[in-house]
Amino acid sequence: MTEMISPKPGVDRIELYVGGESHLEGRDDVLKLSSNENPLGFPDTAGEALAAAAGALHRYPSSDHASLRNAIAEVHNLDADRIICGAGSDEIIAFLCNAYGGEGTEVIHSAHGFAMHRISALAAGSSPVEVAERDRVVDVDGILNAVTEKTRLVFIANPANPTGTMLGGNEMARLAGSLPEDVILVLDGAYAEYVEGHDGGVALIDQHPNVVMTRTFSKIYGLGGLRIGWGYGAREIIDNLNRVRGPFNVSELQLAAAEAAVRDQDWVAKCRAENATERARLTETLRGLGLAVDKSEANFVLARFASEDDAAACEAHFRNDGILVRKVGSYGLPNCLRITVGTPADNDRVIASVTAFRAAT
Ligand SMILES: *Cc1c(COP(=O)(O)O)cnc(C)c1O
Repeated sequence: MTEMISPKPGVDRIELYVGGESHLEGRDDVLKLSSNENPLGFPDTAGEALAAAAGALHRYPSSDHASLRNAIAEVHNLDADRIICGAGSDEIIAFLCNAYGGEGTEVIHSAHGFAMHRISALAAGSSPVEVAERDRVVDVDGILNAVTEKTRLVFIANPANPTGTMLGGNEMARLAGSLPEDVILVLDGAYAEYVEGHDGGVALIDQHPNVVMTRTFSKIYGLGGLRIGWGYGAREIIDNLNRVRGPFNVSELQLAAAEAAVRDQDWVAKCRAENATERARLTETLRGLGLAVDKSEANFVLARFASEDDAAACEAHFRNDGILVRKVGSYGLPNCLRITVGTPADNDRVIASVTAFRAAT
């Protein structure tokens, strides 16, 4: 044995990320509802752009991502100079922590918030500070009370994962307006497109130079396997994120497919509408079976069971029926299961399985 080399402080406190499961031994009919993927996949336009881009892989990709940034800016009516692209929004989250965190700083995240907020804070050497929620909704006063002179970043996913809940516009504005100006508020908008009329908080960003948002092509655009996301904020912050970004962090395949996808807003509207209909059906059915389900604004629902054992038994029942959902004990919700909204046929399978489970218990 060689002598152990220690990583920098914080790294050994990172729990290794466990993704949603995708396989079940000996089954070819697995229904994966554990990672909030779009059951309709990605738009054909993105697939065609990807194939066209594949011919030039001997060339290094664009390092300024201008073509994709311009497309995003056009579609969302934003300033292209204030957009940064990354290998998924996960990479934008890491850039924020690397550029603004570090030893001796604190990063606030919500109790049932997305795992990457905490992981990226620890990787950057910051101390993560967890703030409790109120009935599974982000608590603005709790966050404001947790701010110290060491705080550099506050992460909020809106809508949130794994709860699916959303902070209203007034509360969002109160949080943005009450944080010290030297604390960056990050609005993680991975599910923003699922909310009709929600732009991720652009007005807040324009009003407060310390507010930024992260967005992704992994959810409604159905491109989770491609790894492409983006961020938007004040020019000064985006410039600093670009300083810590590798120049060739995303490939032409990512750039080309994402550009085609963002221009395909008919696809986004179709997916949003279908998700809303099916999410309502799933929510009503689960509630009818006696489970507690908050109103979700995203592409998944969080079912609350009477106990951890009950949730585990239902998860095992789903598994037996070839359905994979997400256990969320690591998110502080051991009596819950997070279920991605699938196609109508997928949801028929979920409903049949959970109905049988309920009848048997
Ligand atoms: C899925 C998800 C993301 C997306 O991460 P990518 O790196 O863009 O795939 C970001 N934030 C939250 C809250 C998510 O649930």
